[in-house]
Amino acid sequence: MLISPSEGPSVDEAPLLHIDLDAFFASVEILDDPSLKGKPVCVGGVGERGVIASASYEARRFGVRSAMASVVARRLCPDLIVLPGRFDRYEVYSRQFHDVVRDLTPDFESLGLDEVFCDLRSLRRLNVRPIEAAAGLRSRIADELGLLCGVGLGRNKLFAKLASKKSKPHVVDGRLVEGPGVVWVSPDIEQEWLRELPVSALWGVGPATAAKLEKLGLHWVRDLARVDELTLAAHVGASMAASLAAYAVGEDRREVIVDREMKSVGHDQTFARSLEGIDQLTQTAKGHAAVVARALRSQGRVARTITVVVRFDDLTSVSRSQTLSFGVDDEVAIAAIAEALLQSVDLHHAVRLLGIHASSFLERENNQMQLTFAIEASSDNARERAAIVSRERQISHEALRDAVDEVRQRFGRAALGTASELSEHGVEIATQRGRHAFGPEARD
Ligand SMILES: [Mg+2]
Repeated sequence: MLISPSEGPSVDEAPLLHIDLDAFFASVEILDDPSLKGKPVCVGGVGERGVIASASYEARRFGVRSAMASVVARRLCPDLIVLPGRFDRYEVYSRQFHDVVRDLTPDFESLGLDEVFCDLRSLRRLNVRPIEAAAGLRSRIADELGLLCGVGLGRNKLFAKLASKKSKPHVVDGRLVEGPGVVWVSPDIEQEWLRELPVSALWGVGPATAAKLEKLGLHWVRDLARVDELTLAAHVGASMAASLAAYAVGEDRREVIVDREMKSVGHDQTFARSLEGIDQLTQTAKGHAAVVARALRSQGRVARTITVVVRFDDLTSVSRSQTLSFGVDDEVAIAAIAEALLQSVDLHHAVRLLGIHASSFLERENNQMQLTFAIEASSDNARERAAIVSRERQISHEALRDAVDEVRQRFGRAALGTASELSEHGVEIATQRGRHAFGPEARD
Protein backbone atom coordinates (compact mmCIF):
# COMPACT_ATOMS: atom_id res chain seq x y z
CA MET A 1 0.00 0.00 0.00
CA LEU A 2 2.84 2.36 0.78
CA ILE A 3 4.98 2.22 -2.16
CA SER A 4 8.53 2.65 -3.19
CA PRO A 5 7.80 1.69 -6.78
CA SER A 6 10.40 1.69 -9.47
CA GLU A 7 8.61 4.24 -11.55
CA GLY A 8 6.35 5.91 -9.05
CA PRO A 9 4.32 9.06 -9.36
CA SER A 10 4.78 11.95 -11.74
CA VAL A 11 5.72 15.39 -10.44
CA ASP A 12 2.06 16.36 -10.68
CA GLU A 13 1.03 13.45 -8.47
CA ALA A 14 3.79 14.02 -5.94
CA PRO A 15 4.96 17.63 -6.18
CA LEU A 16 6.34 17.74 -2.65
CA LEU A 17 9.30 15.89 -1.21
CA HIS A 18 10.27 15.80 2.45
CA ILE A 19 13.69 14.56 3.45
CA ASP A 20 14.89 13.99 6.97
CA LEU A 21 18.34 12.78 8.04
CA ASP A 22 18.31 9.75 10.33
CA ALA A 23 19.41 10.29 13.94
CA PHE A 24 21.34 13.31 12.71
CA PHE A 25 23.40 14.54 15.69
CA ALA A 26 24.15 11.02 16.89
CA SER A 27 25.14 9.93 13.37
CA VAL A 28 27.59 12.84 13.02
CA GLU A 29 29.17 11.89 16.35
CA ILE A 30 29.61 8.32 15.12
CA LEU A 31 31.13 9.54 11.83
CA ASP A 32 33.62 11.66 13.74
CA ASP A 33 34.46 8.82 16.13
CA PRO A 34 34.03 5.44 14.43
CA SER A 35 34.71 3.62 17.73
CA LEU A 36 31.11 4.59 18.62
CA LYS A 37 29.72 2.57 15.72
CA GLY A 38 27.23 -0.07 16.77
CA LYS A 39 26.92 1.39 20.27
CA PRO A 40 23.92 3.08 21.86
CA VAL A 41 24.83 6.75 21.39
CA CYS A 42 22.83 9.85 22.21
CA VAL A 43 23.39 13.53 22.01
CA GLY A 44 21.74 15.43 24.79
CA GLY A 45 21.97 16.98 28.23
CA VAL A 46 24.08 14.90 30.57
CA GLY A 47 22.94 16.60 33.79
CA GLU A 48 20.10 15.71 36.14
CA ARG A 49 17.55 17.50 34.02
CA GLY A 50 19.10 16.78 30.65
CA VAL A 51 16.98 15.73 27.70
CA ILE A 52 17.92 13.52 24.75
CA ALA A 53 18.18 15.51 21.52
CA SER A 54 19.12 12.67 19.17
CA ALA A 55 19.45 8.92 19.64
CA SER A 56 21.22 6.37 17.45
CA TYR A 57 19.10 3.42 16.29
CA GLU A 58 21.17 1.21 18.56
CA ALA A 59 19.93 3.33 21.49
CA ARG A 60 16.37 3.32 20.16
CA ARG A 61 16.33 -0.46 20.37
CA PHE A 62 16.24 0.06 24.14
CA GLY A 63 13.31 2.44 23.87
CA VAL A 64 15.39 5.61 24.04
CA ARG A 65 13.81 8.47 22.09
CA SER A 66 14.53 12.12 21.52
CA ALA A 67 12.81 14.51 23.95
CA MET A 68 13.11 11.83 26.65
CA ALA A 69 14.75 12.79 29.97
CA SER A 70 18.36 11.56 29.95
CA VAL A 71 17.80 10.00 33.37
CA VAL A 72 14.99 7.87 31.97
CA ALA A 73 17.06 6.99 28.92
CA ARG A 74 19.93 5.77 31.11
CA ARG A 75 17.55 3.64 33.08
CA LEU A 76 16.32 1.99 29.87
CA CYS A 77 19.84 1.54 28.57
CA PRO A 78 22.52 1.44 31.26
CA ASP A 79 25.34 1.42 28.68
CA LEU A 80 24.01 4.49 26.94
CA ILE A 81 26.70 6.92 25.80
CA VAL A 82 25.38 10.47 26.14
CA LEU A 83 27.45 13.12 24.41
CA PRO A 84 27.10 16.88 24.63
CA GLY A 85 26.20 18.48 21.27
CA ARG A 86 28.78 20.00 18.91
CA PHE A 87 26.69 22.29 16.81
CA ASP A 88 29.57 23.58 14.76
CA ARG A 89 30.03 20.05 13.38
CA TYR A 90 26.30 19.61 12.75
CA GLU A 91 26.26 22.89 10.87
CA VAL A 92 29.06 21.73 8.59
CA TYR A 93 27.09 18.59 7.72
CA SER A 94 23.87 20.56 7.43
CA ARG A 95 25.43 22.90 4.89
CA GLN A 96 26.61 19.95 2.81
CA PHE A 97 23.14 18.45 3.08
CA HIS A 98 21.63 21.67 1.78
CA ASP A 99 24.18 21.79 -1.04
CA VAL A 100 23.10 18.32 -2.18
CA VAL A 101 19.45 19.35 -2.06
CA ARG A 102 20.22 22.57 -3.92
CA ASP A 103 21.80 20.55 -6.71
CA LEU A 104 18.42 18.90 -7.20
CA THR A 105 16.39 22.08 -6.94
CA PRO A 106 16.78 25.55 -5.48
CA ASP A 107 13.09 25.42 -4.50
CA PHE A 108 13.44 24.09 -0.99
CA GLU A 109 12.61 25.11 2.55
CA SER A 110 14.81 23.96 5.39
CA LEU A 111 13.40 23.15 8.78
CA GLY A 112 16.15 22.97 11.32
CA LEU A 113 19.47 21.44 10.36
CA ASP A 114 18.39 18.06 9.05
CA GLU A 115 15.00 18.42 7.41
CA VAL A 116 13.96 19.92 4.09
CA PHE A 117 10.85 20.27 1.96
CA CYS A 118 11.38 20.46 -1.79
CA ASP A 119 8.89 21.70 -4.33
CA LEU A 120 9.58 19.44 -7.30
CA ARG A 121 7.47 21.24 -9.86
CA SER A 122 10.44 22.91 -11.53
CA LEU A 123 11.84 19.43 -12.28
CA ARG A 124 8.95 18.66 -14.59
CA ARG A 125 10.75 20.17 -17.57
CA LEU A 126 13.90 18.14 -16.75
CA ASN A 127 11.84 15.01 -16.94
CA VAL A 128 12.92 13.87 -13.49
CA ARG A 129 10.58 11.48 -11.68
CA PRO A 130 10.09 12.17 -7.96
CA ILE A 131 11.21 8.63 -7.08
CA GLU A 132 14.40 9.20 -9.04
CA ALA A 133 14.97 12.53 -7.31
CA ALA A 134 14.44 10.86 -3.93
CA ALA A 135 16.78 7.97 -4.72
CA GLY A 136 19.40 10.39 -6.04
CA LEU A 137 19.28 12.48 -2.87
CA ARG A 138 19.60 9.40 -0.69
CA SER A 139 22.55 7.99 -2.57
CA ARG A 140 24.43 11.28 -2.70
CA ILE A 141 23.86 11.89 1.01
CA ALA A 142 25.11 8.39 1.76
CA ASP A 143 28.14 8.70 -0.55
CA GLU A 144 29.18 12.24 0.18
CA LEU A 145 28.11 12.77 3.79
CA GLY A 146 28.07 9.19 5.05
CA LEU A 147 24.57 9.75 6.45
CA LEU A 148 21.28 7.94 5.96
CA CYS A 149 17.94 9.60 5.48
CA GLY A 150 14.30 8.95 4.69
CA VAL A 151 12.31 10.58 1.92
CA GLY A 152 8.56 11.07 1.67
CA LEU A 153 6.64 12.07 -1.42
CA GLY A 154 3.14 13.46 -1.44
CA ARG A 155 0.71 15.92 -2.90
CA ASN A 156 1.12 18.29 0.07
CA LYS A 157 3.35 18.90 3.07
CA LEU A 158 1.19 16.77 5.33
CA PHE A 159 1.53 13.61 3.26
CA ALA A 160 5.16 14.22 2.32
CA LYS A 161 6.18 14.52 5.96
CA LEU A 162 4.08 11.58 7.14
CA ALA A 163 5.56 9.51 4.32
CA SER A 164 9.16 10.34 5.20
CA LYS A 165 8.49 9.25 8.76
CA LYS A 166 7.19 5.98 7.39
CA SER A 167 10.25 5.54 5.19
CA LYS A 168 12.62 5.29 8.13
CA PRO A 169 13.90 2.34 10.11
CA HIS A 170 11.89 1.58 13.22
CA VAL A 171 12.11 -0.65 16.24
CA VAL A 172 9.75 -3.57 16.76
CA ASP A 173 10.15 -5.54 20.00
CA GLY A 174 13.70 -4.32 20.46
CA ARG A 175 14.66 -5.23 16.91
CA LEU A 176 15.59 -2.73 14.26
CA VAL A 177 13.52 -3.05 11.09
CA GLU A 178 14.80 -1.37 7.95
CA GLY A 179 12.49 1.17 6.37
CA PRO A 180 11.86 1.37 2.64
CA GLY A 181 13.86 4.63 2.42
CA VAL A 182 11.40 6.29 0.06
CA VAL A 183 7.64 6.31 0.53
CA TRP A 184 4.90 7.77 -1.60
CA VAL A 185 1.35 7.86 -0.34
CA SER A 186 -0.67 7.32 -3.47
CA PRO A 187 -3.95 9.23 -3.81
CA ASP A 188 -6.12 6.11 -3.98
CA ILE A 189 -5.08 4.93 -0.53
CA GLU A 190 -4.20 8.17 1.20
CA GLN A 191 -7.51 8.79 2.99
CA GLU A 192 -7.70 5.28 4.34
CA TRP A 193 -4.06 5.36 5.40
CA LEU A 194 -4.37 8.73 7.11
CA ARG A 195 -7.44 7.69 9.09
CA GLU A 196 -5.54 4.85 10.77
CA LEU A 197 -2.75 7.06 12.14
CA PRO A 198 -2.71 8.18 15.78
CA VAL A 199 -3.49 11.89 16.32
CA SER A 200 0.04 12.36 17.61
CA ALA A 201 1.35 11.69 14.09
CA LEU A 202 -0.10 14.99 12.91
CA TRP A 203 1.89 18.15 12.62
CA GLY A 204 1.91 20.30 15.73
CA VAL A 205 0.33 17.64 17.94
CA GLY A 206 2.84 17.39 20.78
CA PRO A 207 2.33 15.44 24.00
CA ALA A 208 0.17 18.18 25.58
CA THR A 209 -2.26 18.48 22.68
CA ALA A 210 -2.30 14.72 22.23
CA ALA A 211 -3.28 14.34 25.91
CA LYS A 212 -6.15 16.83 25.49
CA LEU A 213 -7.40 15.02 22.40
CA GLU A 214 -7.14 11.65 24.14
CA LYS A 215 -9.22 13.00 26.97
CA LEU A 216 -11.91 13.84 24.43
CA GLY A 217 -11.75 10.27 23.19
CA LEU A 218 -9.93 11.30 20.01
CA HIS A 219 -7.15 8.77 19.56
CA TRP A 220 -7.02 8.35 15.80
CA VAL A 221 -7.16 10.70 12.86
CA ARG A 222 -10.47 9.06 11.91
CA ASP A 223 -11.86 10.24 15.30
CA LEU A 224 -10.80 13.80 14.51
CA ALA A 225 -12.57 13.70 11.18
CA ARG A 226 -15.86 13.05 13.00
CA VAL A 227 -15.66 16.04 15.34
CA ASP A 228 -16.74 19.46 14.20
CA GLU A 229 -14.19 22.21 14.22
CA LEU A 230 -15.98 24.43 16.75
CA THR A 231 -16.04 21.70 19.36
CA LEU A 232 -12.37 21.09 18.73
CA ALA A 233 -11.62 24.83 18.97
CA ALA A 234 -13.13 24.98 22.46
CA HIS A 235 -10.42 22.61 23.62
CA VAL A 236 -7.33 23.27 21.55
CA GLY A 237 -7.87 26.81 20.27
CA ALA A 238 -9.18 28.03 16.94
CA SER A 239 -6.00 27.88 14.91
CA MET A 240 -5.00 24.38 16.03
CA ALA A 241 -8.59 23.24 15.48
CA ALA A 242 -8.56 24.62 11.93
CA SER A 243 -5.30 22.83 11.16
CA LEU A 244 -6.46 19.55 12.67
CA ALA A 245 -9.78 19.64 10.85
CA ALA A 246 -7.95 20.15 7.56
CA TYR A 247 -5.27 17.52 8.24
CA ALA A 248 -7.92 15.00 9.28
CA VAL A 249 -9.24 15.00 5.71
CA GLY A 250 -5.79 15.21 4.12
CA GLU A 251 -5.86 18.91 3.31
CA ASP A 252 -2.81 21.08 3.78
CA ARG A 253 -2.44 24.34 1.91
CA ARG A 254 0.96 25.33 3.21
CA GLU A 255 3.42 26.17 0.46
CA VAL A 256 7.12 25.45 0.43
CA ILE A 257 8.66 28.74 1.50
CA VAL A 258 11.83 29.05 -0.51
CA ASP A 259 14.71 31.13 0.70
CA ARG A 260 14.75 33.47 -2.27
CA GLU A 261 18.24 34.74 -1.79
CA MET A 262 19.96 33.12 -4.70
CA LYS A 263 22.98 31.10 -3.69
CA SER A 264 23.86 29.32 -6.89
CA VAL A 265 23.39 29.39 -10.62
CA GLY A 266 23.46 26.13 -12.47
CA HIS A 267 22.57 24.18 -15.54
CA ASP A 268 21.53 20.53 -15.38
CA GLN A 269 20.71 18.34 -18.31
CA THR A 270 19.38 14.80 -18.47
CA PHE A 271 20.33 13.23 -21.77
CA ALA A 272 18.06 11.30 -24.06
CA ARG A 273 21.06 9.10 -24.84
CA SER A 274 23.61 8.75 -22.05
CA LEU A 275 27.11 10.11 -22.61
CA GLU A 276 30.14 7.87 -22.55
CA GLY A 277 33.71 8.81 -21.90
CA ILE A 278 35.46 11.98 -20.89
CA ASP A 279 35.48 13.50 -24.38
CA GLN A 280 31.72 13.53 -24.77
CA LEU A 281 31.40 14.83 -21.25
CA THR A 282 33.84 17.71 -21.57
CA GLN A 283 32.34 18.68 -24.90
CA THR A 284 28.91 18.92 -23.28
CA ALA A 285 30.39 20.73 -20.29
CA LYS A 286 31.43 23.58 -22.59
CA GLY A 287 27.81 24.22 -23.50
CA HIS A 288 26.77 24.07 -19.85
CA ALA A 289 29.55 26.47 -18.90
CA ALA A 290 28.31 28.95 -21.49
CA VAL A 291 24.78 28.84 -20.03
CA VAL A 292 26.06 29.34 -16.49
CA ALA A 293 28.38 32.16 -17.56
CA ARG A 294 25.53 33.96 -19.33
CA ALA A 295 23.33 33.65 -16.24
CA LEU A 296 26.08 35.02 -14.01
CA ARG A 297 26.76 37.97 -16.28
CA SER A 298 23.10 38.80 -16.62
CA GLN A 299 22.94 39.02 -12.82
CA GLY A 300 26.15 41.02 -12.54
CA ARG A 301 27.72 38.32 -10.42
CA VAL A 302 30.95 36.40 -10.38
CA ALA A 303 31.26 33.05 -8.65
CA ARG A 304 34.17 31.52 -6.76
CA THR A 305 32.89 27.96 -6.49
CA ILE A 306 32.32 25.69 -9.46
CA THR A 307 30.57 22.36 -8.93
CA VAL A 308 30.02 19.55 -11.37
CA VAL A 309 27.36 16.94 -10.80
CA VAL A 310 27.38 13.67 -12.69
CA ARG A 311 24.58 11.15 -12.48
CA PHE A 312 25.23 7.72 -13.92
CA ASP A 313 22.90 5.27 -15.57
CA ASP A 314 22.75 3.24 -12.36
CA LEU A 315 21.38 6.42 -10.70
CA THR A 316 24.40 6.92 -8.48
CA SER A 317 25.79 10.43 -8.50
CA VAL A 318 29.05 12.16 -7.89
CA SER A 319 29.71 15.84 -7.38
CA ARG A 320 32.99 17.70 -7.20
CA SER A 321 33.56 21.33 -6.27
CA GLN A 322 36.44 23.71 -6.40
CA THR A 323 36.52 27.11 -4.73
CA LEU A 324 38.84 29.54 -6.44
CA SER A 325 40.80 32.45 -5.07
CA PHE A 326 39.11 34.65 -7.66
CA GLY A 327 35.66 34.98 -9.13
CA VAL A 328 34.64 33.90 -12.62
CA ASP A 329 31.78 34.74 -14.96
CA ASP A 330 33.46 33.53 -18.09
CA GLU A 331 32.63 30.37 -20.00
CA VAL A 332 36.22 29.50 -20.84
CA ALA A 333 37.23 29.61 -17.19
CA ILE A 334 34.14 27.77 -15.95
CA ALA A 335 34.60 25.09 -18.61
CA ALA A 336 38.29 24.67 -17.71
CA ILE A 337 37.54 24.17 -14.01
CA ALA A 338 34.61 21.91 -14.80
CA GLU A 339 36.74 19.83 -17.14
CA ALA A 340 39.44 19.37 -14.50
CA LEU A 341 36.77 18.33 -12.00
CA LEU A 342 35.21 15.91 -14.49
CA GLN A 343 38.57 14.29 -15.12
CA SER A 344 38.65 13.30 -11.46
CA VAL A 345 35.39 11.38 -11.79
CA ASP A 346 35.59 7.65 -12.36
CA LEU A 347 33.44 7.16 -15.45
CA HIS A 348 32.57 3.54 -14.81
CA HIS A 349 29.05 3.97 -16.16
CA ALA A 350 27.47 6.01 -18.88
CA VAL A 351 26.35 9.46 -17.75
CA ARG A 352 22.68 10.37 -17.86
CA LEU A 353 22.86 13.80 -16.26
CA LEU A 354 25.49 16.49 -16.18
CA GLY A 355 25.15 19.63 -14.09
CA ILE A 356 27.45 22.59 -13.68
CA HIS A 357 26.77 25.00 -10.86
CA ALA A 358 28.41 28.23 -9.78
CA SER A 359 28.12 29.54 -6.23
CA SER A 360 29.93 31.66 -3.60
CA PHE A 361 29.00 34.86 -5.39
CA LEU A 362 30.87 38.11 -5.33
CA GLU A 363 29.36 41.31 -6.61
CA ARG A 364 31.05 42.06 -9.88
CA GLU A 365 32.26 45.55 -9.02
CA ASN A 366 33.72 44.40 -5.69
CA ASN A 367 35.70 41.62 -7.23
CA GLN A 368 39.36 42.53 -7.12
CA MET A 369 40.44 39.23 -8.54
CA GLN A 370 38.03 38.66 -11.29
CA LEU A 371 39.28 36.37 -13.95
CA THR A 372 38.21 37.87 -17.19
CA PHE A 373 39.07 37.29 -20.78
CA ALA A 374 37.25 40.19 -22.34
CA ILE A 375 38.37 43.41 -20.84
CA GLU A 376 36.80 46.74 -21.54
CA ALA A 377 39.87 48.84 -20.89
CA SER A 378 39.19 52.46 -20.09
CA SER A 379 41.91 53.83 -22.31
CA ASP A 380 40.89 55.43 -25.61
CA ASN A 381 44.16 54.56 -27.20
CA ALA A 382 43.64 51.38 -29.18
CA ARG A 383 47.20 50.15 -28.90
CA GLU A 384 47.32 50.84 -25.15
CA ARG A 385 44.02 49.07 -24.75
CA ALA A 386 45.27 46.06 -26.69
CA ALA A 387 48.35 45.94 -24.45
CA ILE A 388 46.20 46.03 -21.30
CA VAL A 389 43.95 43.35 -22.68
CA SER A 390 46.83 41.11 -23.54
CA ARG A 391 48.51 41.58 -20.14
CA GLU A 392 45.23 40.92 -18.33
CA ARG A 393 44.68 37.86 -20.43
CA GLN A 394 48.07 36.52 -19.54
CA ILE A 395 47.42 37.05 -15.83
CA SER A 396 44.03 35.45 -16.23
CA HIS A 397 45.41 32.45 -18.05
CA GLU A 398 48.06 31.95 -15.40
CA ALA A 399 45.54 32.17 -12.59
CA LEU A 400 43.29 29.75 -14.39
CA ARG A 401 46.12 27.30 -15.04
CA ASP A 402 47.03 27.39 -11.34
CA ALA A 403 43.42 26.75 -10.43
CA VAL A 404 43.19 23.80 -12.79
CA ASP A 405 46.43 22.39 -11.38
CA GLU A 406 45.00 22.72 -7.91
CA VAL A 407 41.91 20.77 -8.89
CA ARG A 408 44.07 18.00 -10.30
CA GLN A 409 46.20 17.86 -7.21
CA ARG A 410 43.16 17.69 -4.99
CA PHE A 411 41.23 15.11 -6.91
CA GLY A 412 43.67 13.44 -9.24
CA ARG A 413 42.58 12.08 -12.57
CA ALA A 414 40.47 9.08 -11.79
CA ALA A 415 39.06 9.06 -15.27
CA LEU A 416 42.40 7.86 -16.52
CA GLY A 417 42.60 5.08 -13.98
CA THR A 418 40.34 2.09 -14.00
CA ALA A 419 37.72 1.39 -11.41
CA SER A 420 39.70 -1.54 -10.01
CA GLU A 421 42.62 0.73 -9.22
CA LEU A 422 40.45 2.83 -6.97
CA SER A 423 40.07 1.39 -3.53
CA GLU A 424 37.81 2.75 -0.85
CA HIS A 425 40.31 5.60 -0.69
CA GLY A 426 40.33 5.86 -4.43
CA VAL A 427 40.60 9.59 -4.54
CA GLU A 428 43.80 9.57 -2.52
CA ILE A 429 45.35 6.97 -4.77
CA ALA A 430 44.25 8.83 -7.84
CA THR A 431 45.73 12.02 -6.48
CA GLN A 432 49.07 10.31 -6.06
CA ARG A 433 48.87 8.97 -9.57
CA GLY A 434 48.00 12.41 -10.77
CA ARG A 435 50.96 13.97 -9.04
CA HIS A 436 53.35 11.65 -10.75
CA ALA A 437 51.86 11.56 -14.16
CA PHE A 438 50.35 15.01 -14.46
CA GLY A 439 52.42 17.21 -12.20
CA PRO A 440 53.61 20.71 -13.01
CA GLU A 441 55.97 19.47 -15.70
CA ALA A 442 53.22 17.95 -17.73
CA ARG A 443 51.97 19.85 -20.70
CA ASP A 444 48.49 21.39 -20.24
MG1 LIG B 1 16.07 13.82 11.50
